Amino acid sequence: MSAPRTVVIVGGVAGGMSTATRLRRNDEHARIIVVERGEHVSFANCGLPYYVGGVIAERDELLLQTPESIHERFDVDVRVRTEATSIDRDARTITLRDLASGEDEVVTYDALVLSPGASPFVPPAPGIERALTLRDVSDVDRMAAAVVAGPSSAAVLGGGFIGLEMAENLHRRGIAVTIVELADQVLAPLDPELAQVVADHLVAHGIELRLGVSAVAIGDNTVELSDGATIPADLVVAAIGVRPETALAKDCGLELDARGGILVDDHQRASDPNIFAVGDAATKRDAISGDPVLVPLAQTANRHGRLVADVIAGRDVASQPVLGTAVVGVLGLTIALTGWNEKRLVAANRPHRIIHTHPTDHAGYYPGANGMALKLLVDPATDRILGAQGVGGNGVDKRIDVIATAMRGGITASGLADLELAYAPQFGSAKDPVNMLGFVADNLASGAIRSIQWHELEAHVANGALVLDVRTDRERAEKSIPGSTHIPVDELRDRLDELPRDRELIVHCAVGVRANVAVRLLSHEGFDAVNLDGGYRTWNAGTRKDTTWREPSSLAQASPGTQPPSA
Ligand code: FAD
Repeated sequence: MSAPRTVVIVGGVAGGMSTATRLRRNDEHARIIVVERGEHVSFANCGLPYYVGGVIAERDELLLQTPESIHERFDVDVRVRTEATSIDRDARTITLRDLASGEDEVVTYDALVLSPGASPFVPPAPGIERALTLRDVSDVDRMAAAVVAGPSSAAVLGGGFIGLEMAENLHRRGIAVTIVELADQVLAPLDPELAQVVADHLVAHGIELRLGVSAVAIGDNTVELSDGATIPADLVVAAIGVRPETALAKDCGLELDARGGILVDDHQRASDPNIFAVGDAATKRDAISGDPVLVPLAQTANRHGRLVADVIAGRDVASQPVLGTAVVGVLGLTIALTGWNEKRLVAANRPHRIIHTHPTDHAGYYPGANGMALKLLVDPATDRILGAQGVGGNGVDKRIDVIATAMRGGITASGLADLELAYAPQFGSAKDPVNMLGFVADNLASGAIRSIQWHELEAHVANGALVLDVRTDRERAEKSIPGSTHIPVDELRDRLDELPRDRELIVHCAVGVRANVAVRLLSHEGFDAVNLDGGYRTWNAGTRKDTTWREPSSLAQASPGTQPPSA
């Protein structure tokens, strides 16, 4: 009988531990060693912010497994406080340093899996050493201790996923939080008109936003910003982003991409046939472009950890291209997205069609319906879905997950119209928001309607277009697009003679549903009519730059016309 093979896994959390446990289920006899530099393995990194906020009350809840429990169930040799310091690819050995004793051990491997993750990027600024970062359990201990010390103010540097989660949890502790973000919007993966909804929500909940600025100096209890302002900050959190931890891979000559990620093939194999990489440190194949990308998300790390164990066990399996499907919650708002956003499509010069809708999560007549903003990006030539974003209350995650599944399954945008989705009034609508996106996509693809985007309105008006508001008198009185003409949709048939036949008519209502009715009517009557996609609500979110004004009909309420009449 041949000797059992040795598999060494670097990194004992998401990707690494998924690999180890699946590998054991695949192969009872392999010698499996997991090395982890930190003190803990298999901890809940995604739960860390919620321990700071007290939502997760017990620290032990974060520790999903211990080296002992893993050894007992899976017979895996788990070595914490042990660092992999170098790899000799020719000899197929890896040097493991016991950080307590300082002693090195050289281990020969048959297969090596790298899942070293990504480390928080800390921006250079005087005094930045005072900033706390959040990656592992020791970080969360430091942060929890800092919160117990009773700070009254905190600056969170970075308005990305972790920055928002930290802001929420510090706010929950009664700390006055300011988010400092270099970009002119929070949550870079969103397009600006959806990010504006998030910004409004943060501000409405008492979180201060400083957009378009960076921290240039950290004082004892202040942060100085690039616009000259100084903000109070007893506590400073750096959540600017992460960088793949690939020094080990680089030093042994593995191929990296331009951003430092370990290049792997669809079997997670690096540029050495005996070395594999998964998780935040490894590149993935982008589902839209096919290019290598970095997607630092737990779900991908876990799935690829399982997959690489199957590859090592000899199964013919390959990883799928990634969409980067993600979700984050902040102060009761859900933000989810998949695929590419409009900014990225524009930057790549890729043709796209855009659809905005503002449905409710379930039938408007059933109590408790929450509004949401959805955006779908579609390839106009093929009807392929290129991406989607959603912001709102309940049910945003479900819609984005359905769309991500459709994308993976090759269902086109128009194909969403005929998806059979579960319905009862408290869960959805007879025409689900996903179906509605499909209806609009189908209308656009067939040429039944045309639409323009909020950022195209100005140019159309400059070319002589007339903006027609078909909302009710009451809605019109709240706020309107300057220079627009008003005829409520229900009066339109009788007032057609008030409209010019020699000008383009850009029709809008609150969200696009009544405008669609109006556009169809006008088109049948020979007018040159187009829909302002997403209606007043999208236009307002996209064009408004301040974060102090809030839309009178808040997201929590359904506007008239957000539901199709038959729902
Ligand atoms: P990790 O899970 O980070 O594990 C890598 C481990 O390798 C580390 O513990 C490190 O100490 C160890 N290591 C590195 N180098 C060496 C070495 N040379 N020797 C020994 N050990 C080494 N993702 C989501 O999808 N949803 C979320 O809600 C979410 N929330 C998050 C919240 C926070 C606060 C953080 C920090 C991350 C969050 N993520 C989330 C991201 C997610 O945690 C990561 O994508 C995932 O953990 C990556 O898995 P990994 O195995 O690549 O790296």
